[in-house]
Amino acid sequence: MAKEGHKYIFVLGGVMSGVGKGVATSSIGLLLQQKGYAVNLVKVDPYLNVDAGTMNPTEHGEVFVLKSGLETDQDMGNYERFLNRDLTNEDYMTSGMVYQSVINRERALGYGGKCVEAIPHVRDEILRRFEAAAEYNGSRISVIEIGGTVGDFQNALFIEAARVLKMEHPENVLFVMVSYLPTPGTLGEMKTKPTQTAVRELNSYGVQPDFIIARSREPIDEKRREKISVSCNVRKDRIISAPDITSIYEAPLNFDRGNLGDELLEALNLTEKRKASLAAWKKFARAVNNDKAPEVAIAIVGKYFDTGDFVLSDAYLSVIEAIKFSAAKLGKRAKITWINSKQFEKGAPVSQLAKYQGIIVPGGFGETGIEGKIKAIQYAREHKIPYFGLCYGMQLMVVEYARHVANIKDAHTTEIKKNTAEPVVDIMPEQKQNLFDGKYGATMRLGTYPAYLKKGTVARAAYKKELVEERHRHRYEINPEYVDRLQKAGLVFSGTSPDGVLMEIAELPKSTHPFMLGTQFHPELQARPLDPHPLFTEFLKAALKRKA
Ligand code: GLN
Repeated sequence: MAKEGHKYIFVLGGVMSGVGKGVATSSIGLLLQQKGYAVNLVKVDPYLNVDAGTMNPTEHGEVFVLKSGLETDQDMGNYERFLNRDLTNEDYMTSGMVYQSVINRERALGYGGKCVEAIPHVRDEILRRFEAAAEYNGSRISVIEIGGTVGDFQNALFIEAARVLKMEHPENVLFVMVSYLPTPGTLGEMKTKPTQTAVRELNSYGVQPDFIIARSREPIDEKRREKISVSCNVRKDRIISAPDITSIYEAPLNFDRGNLGDELLEALNLTEKRKASLAAWKKFARAVNNDKAPEVAIAIVGKYFDTGDFVLSDAYLSVIEAIKFSAAKLGKRAKITWINSKQFEKGAPVSQLAKYQGIIVPGGFGETGIEGKIKAIQYAREHKIPYFGLCYGMQLMVVEYARHVANIKDAHTTEIKKNTAEPVVDIMPEQKQNLFDGKYGATMRLGTYPAYLKKGTVARAAYKKELVEERHRHRYEINPEYVDRLQKAGLVFSGTSPDGVLMEIAELPKSTHPFMLGTQFHPELQARPLDPHPLFTEFLKAALKRKA
């Protein structure tokens, strides 16, 4: 049981998805945290996947890996970035996870011979998880985002659980609906009807929203505020105008101007009010949004480009944000260009990369565009363009070096060529067994692992410490049998696992290249607005030294 008097804020979507429920949740979390309350944020994903790890990024955006190794939704990344702290397994749940625990318990006769049903058993498992998250975090307020929109089949049980919580503790539970007010081009007028309909739909669950966050292109006017208030039965001062903004990092500042933090605290009967100190955040938001800051031109050479531009930025969300944070810290603005590596396989000149100041090859899986990426890496190395490889980008950097410098002509990763004569990147035996058994979910090397950094290396100088912890998500590793040969050819493995077996960072010395470094882990997952990642910052510093 969560502590007596624990407060819950449920954030629900009305009208349509994708209008910023996650950002609203993160912002509410930040505001309440800055007002001195211990807050935990929970993401509920209504799909049946047990975690987000088995979904293609073009399907569902980036897979965000927690410290524990749990593979989650990209919203969890935003939560961590806004709160500036690590989240835990308790802070994330999917329908798949909930059902799995209920079914496992049923198989173990845990329901004492009863007929196991969605209500009460699944609902109660959801409630148990809400409480466990509050308990584990030792928080005062839980902000829980229920994925999807009101009216979906999938999320109904979660809303039902929240309703029961409110029924039992009316003074401790709030509902915030994030709605959308469209302005159809032909009318040029902002419409409140979809919001009214969504609230009515929510009412049919027995739930009344206490707050409405009114997302729209322009701020809402008095007339519409009035209309929503009367028709949706929500006090006018609890309808928060949330017009489009240029960056999500403005959202908490906007909400603060609308007094959302104080209004929520008042509604929850939490009386110790402190003024939120958003000074550091404000400074960051200004820096990250400063379009007068000089540009630094970065190319991301990847492959998840097939479904249009917006999918792209979702698939590599943390990478983009990590670049922005470090750029802001340096008083610069990153101009990111997406380059599909497949084109280099079809003969497009790789020399087009010359116009960028830095090149990133991010994480990825499978065969598509691999040789194109290797060409891009070779170009970056030979033309001394700062290069940063993330996970797959590190493995391919090592393959490229093996082929073209260490004279291991057939070097490859066994992910692509199973029986290659030169498996420079290879699968670990236990991972091989997983694949053989068809066990794909949650079986990669996942979550935080320590790495020791060698003295006198680029990595060590960037981190300024010897021991670092970073998050992983991969099956393949640099094959230890090739390490000697690669090192003799000039490649430096500047970070290794404590036992020295796993290569965590590969780099070229400063004397031969301005910045050529790859990490087996995903540094982007720990980059935070108020705490940018040192490797991204070093990469950008090197990039800035190169003329665009
Ligand atoms: N496909 C590679 C592996 O599984 C890299 C994974 C990644 O980039 N996240 O090892």
